[in-house]
Amino acid sequence: MIESFRPPTRVLMGPGPSMVHPRVLQAGARPTLGHLDPSFIGMMDELKVMLQRAFQCDYETTFVVSGPGSAGMESCLLNLLEPGDQAVVCINGVFGNRLKEIVSRCGAQPVVVEGDWGSPVDPEVVESCLQTHPDASLVAFVHAETSTGAMSDARRLAELAHRYGCLAVADCVTSLAGSPLVVAEWQLDAVYSGSQKCLSCVPGLSPVTFSPAAMQRVQNRQSPVQSWFLDVSLLTGYWGEGQRVYHHTAPVNSLYALHEALVLLEEEGLSARWERHQLHHRALLAGLHAMGLSMVVDEAHRLPQLNAVWIPDGVDDATLRHRLLDDFQIEIGAGLGPFAGRVWRIGLMGESAHRHHVLRLLSALARLLSEMGQSIAPDAPLMAAEAIYDQAGETVFDSDAPVSER
Ligand SMILES: *Cc1c(COP(=O)(O)O)cnc(C)c1O
Repeated sequence: MIESFRPPTRVLMGPGPSMVHPRVLQAGARPTLGHLDPSFIGMMDELKVMLQRAFQCDYETTFVVSGPGSAGMESCLLNLLEPGDQAVVCINGVFGNRLKEIVSRCGAQPVVVEGDWGSPVDPEVVESCLQTHPDASLVAFVHAETSTGAMSDARRLAELAHRYGCLAVADCVTSLAGSPLVVAEWQLDAVYSGSQKCLSCVPGLSPVTFSPAAMQRVQNRQSPVQSWFLDVSLLTGYWGEGQRVYHHTAPVNSLYALHEALVLLEEEGLSARWERHQLHHRALLAGLHAMGLSMVVDEAHRLPQLNAVWIPDGVDDATLRHRLLDDFQIEIGAGLGPFAGRVWRIGLMGESAHRHHVLRLLSALARLLSEMGQSIAPDAPLMAAEAIYDQAGETVFDSDAPVSER
């Protein structure tokens, strides 16, 4: 007989999903309600308010797409593009490529601005592309490219988009709650994220927000949105004010979990969460440097929550990752595309960004790399990381505890 599934205990330090706080898991285990139950609808209203605060915008059309980050990506593009439209798509990693693929499937024409993997999107190249494509109606880019660890200047890209009469669509799957993101001030028009990265919720949900200008574009469409499921005008009948209309059955329990993840974010504070990611990133970096490892992305554009590290010569990528998982229960991410076999991606997202995780990973990595012939001074990586924590002061030790125990 097949028995109940009991997952092993892992430390998730890859590109997502991240560690999920016990309070979030417990929230998801509460009794299921009907998706039109007044009590559930009250919870949805709170979710919306907390999402607006996390996104830093007051956009009325803010809700959760019942699907992973990729569904949010499709939702933003499908609703804002019509067949024949032109869209500038910035590609500097895997997710930019996915944007382009979806733009094509919308029947729109992608105009690609290709950049180097590991570098931010170059606004000057975007601007010359907009100059030569006056018919473009939208600019899409990835704020935090999880495949490379590079951060692009979302505010500047949105400014450019508007200067040339385009809407700005930003992939903020990895940036939301991990590094500064101020949707309204930066005038982003359509933003999607994911539940399983720096929000540290269970996977499978995509918070999205649409600016009034984006909703105007939706209202002026000539043709219906190709996806019934992702049609924002239909979805606002369920998520909007007033009488709720059945559209599809919401993932009720996952939404409880997201509600709790956002309550945890409010307890911690948004900027405190951004700073926590930065602190643990600095400690991790100190430890990696002490092992002689180097980073893919320049200091100025590095994401704290996704650390792309060059794999040293003579070390086999898969062997090391498998031993980390089997012997130390730690998951890190492999490189994708041109980075496959050459880069590790170490995530410090949400609940994964804590001192005990950083120290555990550094000590496991140092041990395995030494065994594989790298010369590493024993204790040096941990001491380097601890020095960063010491500099940051005593409060670090407090904030190391799960939020519920503080
Ligand atoms: C993870 C991720 C996605 C896709 O999210 P899924 O939940 O896997 O569909 C999209 N964009 C970026 C930048 C991501 O990191």
